[in-house]
Amino acid sequence: MASVANNGVGAAPRIVIENAAIATVDALDTEYTRGHVVIAGNIIESVGEGPAPMWLENVARRINAEGHLVTPGLVNTHHHFYQWITRGVAQDDILFDWLVALYPTWSRIDDKLVHAASQGSAAALLKSGCTTASDHHYVFPQGGGDILGASIEAVSELGMRFTALRGSMSRGKSDGGLPPDHAVEKTEDILLASEAAVDRWHDASFGSMLHVAIAPCSPFSVTTELMKEAAELARRKGVRLHTHGSETAEEEQFCKELFGMGPTDYFESVGWLGEDVWMAHCVHMNDSDIRKFAETGTGVAHCPSSNARLAAGIARVPDMMAAGVPVGLGVDGTASNESGELGTELRNALLINRLHGRPDALTARQTLRLGTMGGARVLGRQAEIGSVEVGKLADLALWKVDGIMHSSIADPVAALVMGALPPLSLLLVNGRPVVEHGHLTTVNEDRIAKACADAAKELASRG
Ligand SMILES: [Zn+2]
Repeated sequence: MASVANNGVGAAPRIVIENAAIATVDALDTEYTRGHVVIAGNIIESVGEGPAPMWLENVARRINAEGHLVTPGLVNTHHHFYQWITRGVAQDDILFDWLVALYPTWSRIDDKLVHAASQGSAAALLKSGCTTASDHHYVFPQGGGDILGASIEAVSELGMRFTALRGSMSRGKSDGGLPPDHAVEKTEDILLASEAAVDRWHDASFGSMLHVAIAPCSPFSVTTELMKEAAELARRKGVRLHTHGSETAEEEQFCKELFGMGPTDYFESVGWLGEDVWMAHCVHMNDSDIRKFAETGTGVAHCPSSNARLAAGIARVPDMMAAGVPVGLGVDGTASNESGELGTELRNALLINRLHGRPDALTARQTLRLGTMGGARVLGRQAEIGSVEVGKLADLALWKVDGIMHSSIADPVAALVMGALPPLSLLLVNGRPVVEHGHLTTVNEDRIAKACADAAKELASRG
């Protein structure tokens, strides 16, 4: 049993979880068949086999977790929260056609609609076991109000740990880009707004509930000048960089025509490979691209459902992992993954990667690691979250695996990753219960559902 001495957290109220199977996802993949986790305040104080220590004081809640699996909370590394109110549109298109179909609608959003959509997206994540999410927001129409602030407020009300990405588009159609000119911003405005967002919201302290990163949208919607200046700004401010990369064959073709090289070589040429960078998708990567990502520590957000929905292809995740590339999982925006659940993405990642023709392409435990520690590393938070270890933040999921859908699967990790998504009995973020018995504890779910339906109707009517 691992435990920590009383170092100041001893006075905090404790939550004791006992009699659970535990997959810690620590460096040794330690698992306990019938163990305990003790949480003091927002910190994991003890984890191990058998019951919790008898001497514990100030126990606010003791949970008999018989029939449950405890895992680290899942970490989502790529999303576009605002898309919750434009789901089920352009159902049979590839990426470029899908984007062109949706840009006009997206360019009419505002802060009020983004607040509703962000609560829908965050609720779907929380209810599927996700405790930390990032949201890549890149549409800022003139007169749209405080859009980034609206998403931050929406997530904070639900109690999720968050990385808000100040995204952007600066290459409109007349500059050879894909988005319409009226949907893009000026480079100078983007840089000023990005810096202001970092100054206003980024909290780099241990246990922070809110990070900010800088995230120009993609090679086909952003100028080279902005890519270079965004990298310079992020490094000056000490925050991370994110964008879409190597998502489709069409994007590769676009880069070759416009820049005379493929996406990874282009990112290298603008200073966008490094430990402080992660990219969504990375489906079309050759051996040299993967080597460059591994050598520089550039991270990847693997989004299997979205890649399948848009017929983009299958990312070479097993090859990336073998090369040492940091890889996490992402839902991607819900206009290209209508489910919006991260928990089900575990199963999708395992299954889709086996379509490479390799039965061991991803094991159940490697997949759980992608969805937890892998994501934590991609977001630069591996010292704080991603595993059930003493001294880390108390972001935990308690999955019920003794019900009809799972009770005959002997291995609880296989039950979670390969079976149906188990009922979520409890989700703790920073030691605080935010989901109990499958439902949000913070905001009324019916109210979120109604607000999202109204927001979707309102946005559609603006056409
Ligand atoms: Zn995306």
